[in-house]
Amino acid sequence: MIFKQLFEPDSSTYTYLINCPETETTALIDPVLDTAERDAEVLRQMGLRLDCTLDTHIHADHLTGARRLKELTGSQIAYPAIDDLPCADIGVKEGEVFRIGTIELYPLFTPGHTDHHHAYLIDNGTHKLLFSGDALLIDACGRTDFQSGDAATLYRSIHNKFFTLPDETLVYPCHDYEGRFISTIAQEKARNPRLAQNKPLQAFVELMENMDLPYPRKIDFAVPGNERCGECPPNVPEQYRAACERHDQG
Ligand code: FE
Repeated sequence: MIFKQLFEPDSSTYTYLINCPETETTALIDPVLDTAERDAEVLRQMGLRLDCTLDTHIHADHLTGARRLKELTGSQIAYPAIDDLPCADIGVKEGEVFRIGTIELYPLFTPGHTDHHHAYLIDNGTHKLLFSGDALLIDACGRTDFQSGDAATLYRSIHNKFFTLPDETLVYPCHDYEGRFISTIAQEKARNPRLAQNKPLQAFVELMENMDLPYPRKIDFAVPGNERCGECPPNVPEQYRAACERHDQG
C-alpha cells in the first residue's frame, strides 16, 4: 500500500492518499476544493490515476474537492450511502467492504459530530489505520454543537467503534490545528483530555456543551456546497471565492 498524508492549511484538513500498487487503484479520503489542483498534481507526479474520492461526512468547515477532482481526473465520488447525495457515484455503509484494489476499507458508522458521519478502517495485514474523520481528533474530538451533532452520540461512537479497536491502531484524523500528524488508539484512550481515563458520559456531555466555540466561518456555504459534492454555491463570500473561480477561469 502506498500512503500519503496531505494538508490544506486554511481549514487545517488532512487528505489521505491510498494506493494499491498491484491494481494501480487510488483513492483520496477527504480532499478539499482549495487544494484539488495540488492533489491532482501530486497524483500526476507519483504516476497515479485517481479512481475515487471518499468523504467521511458533510463538512461544515471547508468545501470538499470531490466534484473538482472528478472534473480534473474522472474519479468517482463516494460518500456514506445514508447521505443519499444525488451527486455521489458510490454509497458506502458499515458492513460492506469498500475495496481500493486489493485494499479492504471498512466503513464505521460513527455519528455524533454529524448524524451521518463515517470513519474508515483499513487493515493491511501489518497495520490497522483508522481514518477517524472528525469523530476523534488528536487530544480532541469534533464539535457537536452544530449541524446534526450530539455529544452523547459521539461518546458512544468513540467508545463502541474506536476504543474497541486494538491499542496499536494508527489514528489519522481529518484535522489537526497544532501540527500533529498521527495518534494511536492507546494514546487517545490514555491522553485525550476529553475522553481519557474512562471519563464518564455525563462529564463528556457537559464538557462538550460548555465549549462556547465561535460560529463556523464557512458553514453557511460549505454545507449546501458539500451536499452537491463540493459545488460552490452563490453565497460563498468574496474572501473564499478564489477556489471557486480558479475553475471558472478554466
Ligand atoms: Fe466536520
